[in-house]
Amino acid sequence: MAAQYLTPEQDDKIRQWERWNRNYFIFAFVALTVILVFSSQLGLSSGESWGPLGVLIAALITPIIVLQLKLACPACGHKIGWQAKLMAPDQCKTCGTFLRSRD
Ligand SMILES: [Zn+2]
Repeated sequence: MAAQYLTPEQDDKIRQWERWNRNYFIFAFVALTVILVFSSQLGLSSGESWGPLGVLIAALITPIIVLQLKLACPACGHKIGWQAKLMAPDQCKTCGTFLRSRD
C-alpha cells in the first residue's frame, strides 16, 4: 500500500489538537501540583476526607481523557487518541496513513 499523507488542512487539525493537548496537560500538571502542595492549607484534605480534593483532581483529569478520545485519524476516522500521549502518533496504526502532510 502506498504511503498516505494528510492534506495540509487535516495536518493543521492534528497540530492544533497537539497544541491543545500539550497546553492543557501542562496546565493540569501545574494545577495538580499546586492543589496537592497546598491542599492542607486550602482545607481540601483533612486527614480522612479526600472528597473535595478527589473532585478537583477528577475535574482536572477528565478533559485530558476527553481530548484523548476526541482525536481521530482524519483518513479513516479511527480513534487514535490512545495511541497518542502528548503528541499524535506518526502513523495511524489502522490505515497506515502518516499523520502529517507530505511536506
Ligand atoms: Zn487511519
